[in-house]
This record gives sequence, structure tokens and C-alpha cells, in this order.
Amino acid sequence: MTFSSINPYNQRKLKTYRADNTASIERKVKQADRAFADWSALSLADRTVFLRKVGEYLSANKQRYGELMTAEMGKTLREAITEVEKCATTCAFYADHAAAFLADQSIESSDGPAARSVITYQPLGPVLAIMPWNFPFWQAMRFAIPGLLAGNIGLLKHAPNVPGCALAIEETFRESGLPDGVFQTLLVDVPVVETLLKDRRVKAVTLTGSGRAGASVASIAGSQIKKSVLELGGSDALIVLADADLEKAAEIAVKSRMQNAGQSCIAAKRFIVEKSVKKQFTELVLQQIQQIRQGDPMDDATTMGPMARLDLADNIERQYRETIAKGARLITGGNGSAIQRSGCNVQPILLDKVKPGMAAFDEETFGPLAVIIEAKDESDAIRLANQSDFGLGSAIWTQDLDKADRLARQIQAGSVFINGLMRSDARVPFGGIKTSGFGRELSEAGIKEFVNAKTIWVE
Ligand code: NAP
Repeated sequence: MTFSSINPYNQRKLKTYRADNTASIERKVKQADRAFADWSALSLADRTVFLRKVGEYLSANKQRYGELMTAEMGKTLREAITEVEKCATTCAFYADHAAAFLADQSIESSDGPAARSVITYQPLGPVLAIMPWNFPFWQAMRFAIPGLLAGNIGLLKHAPNVPGCALAIEETFRESGLPDGVFQTLLVDVPVVETLLKDRRVKAVTLTGSGRAGASVASIAGSQIKKSVLELGGSDALIVLADADLEKAAEIAVKSRMQNAGQSCIAAKRFIVEKSVKKQFTELVLQQIQQIRQGDPMDDATTMGPMARLDLADNIERQYRETIAKGARLITGGNGSAIQRSGCNVQPILLDKVKPGMAAFDEETFGPLAVIIEAKDESDAIRLANQSDFGLGSAIWTQDLDKADRLARQIQAGSVFINGLMRSDARVPFGGIKTSGFGRELSEAGIKEFVNAKTIWVE
């Protein structure tokens, strides 16, 4: 069996990779199991030295890795290099803070019967990481950096359209001097995941991807009493209230929606706008969209590359068609029942009059499709925002910060960003509720997902 990478911009085949077979999978799992004893026995300070080197290696290779990412999945080279830089700064962040995050925690219990009690945070062992293609470096590294620092071992099953990135991530850890087996990539198909999850040497799993994949992986992990973290899809609201800075809101809304050709879990997928400013906001959004230059992602002048695969572009076209058929109004990016598209190269689309019951409201839209939804007032905006199966990362735009704070607490989501771009940032927890998943990545919460919070009680 093989995996082939295809450049989504021109559909040219890039390279073919041989998949792992039963023997090589067993060899890698055995190596991971063996590596755990020595790696977890190192002091945190020693592991930190390695992770700082990983950050330096990423910085030194950002151009090469950026080009690889762009070739395999189509994000612009600028976006790709920024992604590698973000992985490097996250290495430095965790290297600076891991000691505080994982420090023993004394619990006041001397009033008896304990003389002393303490919580220690100890690693679990090899963790399987199942990752998607949309941020091929960042998704894998935001698990691996804190996970390895905590003393765990990484086994990566990446998406099949980014095998070069999957191997480059393994190369990064190897070339940074980490001991053999501490981080390995497995080029395997989905059925192998079940075998790995049922292997007693694999202790836990983290998955970033669709709800369908998450439900399957969590149920297998549950049957084995193994911990899982799920980072799944989103269809988040960006709420624009009447008193918002509309120009800024429109600029950031379009950036949020169209970055990575619309293929971001936390993209603002539903612009929910108070009626009194809807016309003006829609015009500003259109102006922003008209500035987007879709094209060759290697070209500096391009601001939006192709979508990553033909089936993903087909799905956006279906969602567009079904939404239009139910009465939404096309503003730009379409032509009757078709979108403006050449293969994976999809022009940005803007629809107005989108409502519950339409595909672009009810489903996650993973492509460059922006929609305007009218809200009567702020409470209607919150109602519409929460009328979703998802709950990942929302945004509110208003100049009244007290109101924003109050409303943020009413939104069903893992994060709410006020007057800014919803993003992942190593300093704050990242994750969802509802069908967007469970568990958190990044920050102190992320490094504590795959540890045993062990109580030591002394009488
Ligand atoms: P996907 O089809 O679920 O694939 C993601 C990964 O899961 C791939 O490695 C995939 O492998 C694997 N997978 C799929 N079905 C599986 C199963 N039954 N058992 C085990 N592994 C399985 O998702 P995608 O379409 O590539 O990625 C886009 C989705 O990811 C969107 O919904 C997006 O919102 C979500 N996402 C979420 C976050 C977050 O942080 N919350 C971040 C980025 C993306 P194969 O491709 O080999 O099937």
C-alpha cells in the first residue's frame, strides 16, 4: 500500500510513499514502548533542552517546511511559514512554562490525618495522535510539544494527503536530537487505528478532525478504558452588534472566514449581524472579499490558495447549492447553482439571508463560503449563535465591553473572542463543547490532559 501527495493547485502528483506494514508498525510501537522508560525518567529540565532545540530546528527550516506544506495542501506559502513559526514559538512557550505547569502541588491537609499531601503530574506513555491536513504542522505539534515535555511518547497518524509533512515532523524531532522512538510517524490507514487503540502499549489518543472520526475513535478508546481528547469541527458565530466598529469587524470577519481557503475549524462560519447595521456591514464584507487574490499559493501576490482536495471543493459546492435552493441570496462567488471554481481553486463566496434549516447554517462549511444571518437584536443574536450542534470558538463585536462580557458568558463555545480574531494561542486553553469535542489543548490545561494527577498522602 502507498500514499500519494497531490498538489491541489494543479492536481499534479508530487510523491508516493510506502505505507507502514504489520512488521514496521509492530517495530515502531515496540520502540515507543521502550523509549518511554528512559524519556519519562529524564528530568523535566533535560526534556526542556530537547524541546528548545525542536523550536530552533523549526525556525531554521521554516522555508523548506513551508514549501512542503503549500505543495501538499495548498495554503499560501506565507500562511505556511507563519504556521511553522507558530510551532517554534510554542516550543519556547512550553520550555519557559512547563516547570511551573507541572510542579508538584502541595495540598494543605496538616489538620489531619495527613501530615503532608501532594499532587504530582506523571506521564502516561505512548499517545496516538490522529491529525488532519488543514494545519499539518500546527495540529500535530500543539499536541506533541506539551505531550513530550510532560514525558509522554508520540505516535502520529496523519491525514493521507500530507505524508511529506507527517515525515517532516518526525524528522524535526529526530534531527533535534530526541532519543529514538520518542516521536514516530506511522503511515497507516484508518483500520490500523483500532488495532493501535487496542494495543496495551498505547495508553491514550488525541484526535483532531471530524465528528464522525471523533465518535469512532472515542468509542474504541472508551471500550479500552483509555483517555481521549477530541478537537472536532465548528460552525461558530461571529456576532456583530449595532455599536461595533464595523470596518474592523468586517476586515477581521473576512480574514477569519477566508484564511487557509476557509478550511479552519475556528473560522467564523456564521456572521450574525444586528438588523440595523446589516446592510452597511455586508457592503464592507464584500469590499474585503473583493481584495482577495485566489491563485498559486507559492506566489507572493496570492492571498488565498486552493482548497486541499477535490471532494472538499465538491462539498462546499453542494452546501452552496442547497443553501441557495432554500432561499439564500448570492452576493458574490457563484453563478446560479454553481460556484466559480476550477478544480480545487474556489473563488470566495458571500451569501445573504441565510437561516436555520439551510446547509450553510446547520452544517460546518469547510471552505471559502461566508454567510450573513440577520438578528433582530442582541438576544436574538445569542439565540442564533447557540442554535448549532457545534461550540468551538465564537466572536462578538461591540464597543460596550461590559455587554460583551455578559454575552460571552451566554455563548455555548470553548472560547469567545471580543473585538478580535478568534485564534489558537499557546497561552490560553483551546477546545470545544457540544459536537466540537472535549478536552483542551495548549496552556496549562493542555499539558495536563495526558498526565496522571497522582495524589501522594503521608500520615
Ligand atoms: P477527518 O476526515 O475526520 O480526518 C482527520 C483525521 O482522522 C485523519 O487523519 C483521518 O484519516 C482520521 N480519521 C478519519 N476517520 C477516522 C476513523 N473512523 N477512525 C480513525 N481515524 C479516522 O477530518 P478532515 O476532513 O480531514 O478535517 C477537517 C475536520 O477537522 C473539520 O471538521 C475541522 O473542523 C476539524 N478540525 C478541528 C480542529 C479543532 O482543533 N477542533 C482543528 C482542525 C480541524 P483518513 O483521512 O485516513 O480517514
